[in-house]
Amino acid sequence: MKNDQSKIITEKLRKHIGSLIEDSHYVRIIAIDKAPYLDAFIRGESFPPFEIEIQPSSKCNLKCKWCIGEEIQARNQVMNLPDIINADNIGRIVEGILETRQNGLGVEIVKFSGFIGEPLSRKEAVLSAIQRLACACVKVGMFTNGVLMTEDTWEILANISYVHVSLDSGPRSFSWCKENKSPDNPHSTKTFDLILDNIRGLDRQRKKTGWRKDLKINVGYVVINENYDEIYETSRLVRDAGADSIRFKYDITGGGYELFKAGTHNEAFSQIERAHADFHNPPEFSVSSIHSRDDLENNKFANWKCSDGCYYQHFTSTIGSDGNVYICDHNTMLNATTFGNAITRPFSEIWDSKLRRYSINGTSKICKCSVCPPFGRRVNAFLSEIVDYRERYGIEVVVSALELLRNEYKTVNRGGGW
Ligand code: SF4
Ligand code: SF4
Repeated sequence: MKNDQSKIITEKLRKHIGSLIEDSHYVRIIAIDKAPYLDAFIRGESFPPFEIEIQPSSKCNLKCKWCIGEEIQARNQVMNLPDIINADNIGRIVEGILETRQNGLGVEIVKFSGFIGEPLSRKEAVLSAIQRLACACVKVGMFTNGVLMTEDTWEILANISYVHVSLDSGPRSFSWCKENKSPDNPHSTKTFDLILDNIRGLDRQRKKTGWRKDLKINVGYVVINENYDEIYETSRLVRDAGADSIRFKYDITGGGYELFKAGTHNEAFSQIERAHADFHNPPEFSVSSIHSRDDLENNKFANWKCSDGCYYQHFTSTIGSDGNVYICDHNTMLNATTFGNAITRPFSEIWDSKLRRYSINGTSKICKCSVCPPFGRRVNAFLSEIVDYRERYGIEVVVSALELLRNEYKTVNRGGGW
């Protein structure tokens, strides 16, 4: 009887996992790769986040038309967080992360990124943190717009797990999509070439000195009406520059819907399909899309309402540029709830604090963002189904269903995302 129920649940859960072609499918990562964390969640045991995002800065050297951080902050009428993290205090954040353990599990990945800021704006702090984390064998990822990823960063970045360069447009559309705010840097059209040069340099460096030999260089591209016709060409340029993948997504601040309204999404999908047919050749190079045609046509970007609660925040955590711990990477803004400061208190204490445990019971009240991160909404939809099955069929039936699913899927070496 229990076996039958598990098989039925396995069938229902399979739709969330997606195809193996899709590179960094967060649901699959939680369900398959991070099984001990998900099983602890189902059993109601304590466990740490397997990934922490550090946002070292709330300032950016570029100005993108679709910047989600700017959009959300404007809606909430709040200012940027102050930049408190620096080369002197980032060590305390890192040591707190390294000491975090619960039920035999620790933090496996630290990602440097930004909601409204460029992490390499705090280059010295970030590079020193990366070196310490890499020595402790913690996986490190970096999201950057690539402009400041100059030669002085290559030797250290060559030894991390992945660098995601948010290029987000093609050679002609770059100047429309992105404005370079820094007076020291070339104007936008030249900035595109500079970013490709930085990718080339990092690729050369990893071949020369990368001791882990597993750095993946991924490129992101936000598809909008102004750049959909450069998808194919940019895929080729990026591949030739030495990147390992290009990943497309749609502008969740509204540009995705504009694309659909104008009917240009058909050409966008056709260019992605052509790029996939001509350039997708893993492990040398891969072409993928975070959003499906269904996401776009049915405007599914915001189909998880924060009022429904949040399960995603059990698996990841975010430290903002003020050193405070926030509920997710879309909540790092001045009026958002924080659980404590990771510069002045060890991260494990903050994670296990009564304040956090009390606050997350009311996520719908403390979440300040109306749009989940792209993977957050998928993870929330998946986990809410898991919680529902656990209540209806019991813990062991759900754990067995997931075991069946895990046996079907083998972990692939993605390198991107997590
Ligand atoms: S590079 Fe990123 S953080 Fe900077 S403006 Fe663009 S989207 Fe925003
Ligand atoms: S925006 Fe963040 S905290 Fe709010 S529901 Fe989505 S993932 Fe959770």
